[in-house]
Amino acid sequence: MARIGFIGLGNMGAPMAANLLRAGHEVRGFDLTAPACAAIAAAGGSTAASAAEAVRGTEIVITMLPTGEHVRAVLTDILPALDTGALLIDSSTIGVAVARELHEAAAACGHAFLDAPVSGGTTGAAAGTLTFMVGGTADAFARARPVLAAMGRTIVRAGDAGAGQAAKLCNNLILGISMIAVAEGFALAERLGLSAQSLFDIASTSSGSCWSLTHACPVPGPVPAAPSNHDYAPGFATSLMLKDISLAVAAAEDIPRLGREAMAIYRELTEAGLGAKDFSIVAQKARGPAAGPRQGQSPLEPAR
Ligand code: NAD
Repeated sequence: MARIGFIGLGNMGAPMAANLLRAGHEVRGFDLTAPACAAIAAAGGSTAASAAEAVRGTEIVITMLPTGEHVRAVLTDILPALDTGALLIDSSTIGVAVARELHEAAAACGHAFLDAPVSGGTTGAAAGTLTFMVGGTADAFARARPVLAAMGRTIVRAGDAGAGQAAKLCNNLILGISMIAVAEGFALAERLGLSAQSLFDIASTSSGSCWSLTHACPVPGPVPAAPSNHDYAPGFATSLMLKDISLAVAAAEDIPRLGREAMAIYRELTEAGLGAKDFSIVAQKARGPAAGPRQGQSPLEPAR
């Protein structure tokens, strides 16, 4: 069992750290917010007053932070505090260029680094069924594997430094665009007088089927567990989708044509104050400004 420092105990980090504790690892956590620290303490871990204190004497450090800037700042604090030969695993989504920069910064201090972003969302984090896509050396991957196995079901080495982030950006580019495509399909169905349930029953067993339809159906009704049935509580926040698509577009400006369009749509939603809602709320926008209340929705209820 390993001694692990865990920095960033938010929606994803807290359940991931809890699964490490359940598997018998020793976890010392740090987050900027007191409730996040309290949650890890309640799950049987210990907390520290700073990131540097959390990682002192640990052999493995996991970071789960919002953006590359956050990860860079935390690494600047913790690298000098680590014993030589530590393994750092960053599971945040931060893009390829920053990940490669951090691989080099860790190596310069005598530590191994893996970029290991995840797919599976908060439900996968809680269930320990995340997919880890990992970039780094085969040796570091072999060291990390038993620890990642406590938090995920599918653990794939995508290649060398930055390859995990590359895989994550490609996946989320597909996801962000496919959610808009599904939302437009339902908007068209409504205009044509086809019920959402009929479209779902047919498309989910036809060539239009995809994860955005079958697991996160963006209109209320067909998939009970989907955020669309829970006031679009995330799930995966629109602001995070905007970040990921922006990273994908920045990585190769000439390729993602639909990605640029999708980025503009998620930016509009975020600027309209919907950044904290699940990204499937794009279904409300797809209906167009002329759309009245959805079937089953009170005419007095604002179109959400
Ligand atoms: P979150 O905002 O819920 O959690 C981030 C945590 O980091 C917060 O608790 C915050 O207080 C903490 N933090 C920020 N700066 C810190 C610092 N300097 N020191 C210590 N703690 C600090 O975000 P999340 O949903 O857990 O996502 C984390 C990462 O995982 C993001 O990069 C996101 O894109 C990625 N991701 C999220 C999901 C999802 O469904 N939420 C799915 C896959 C990947």
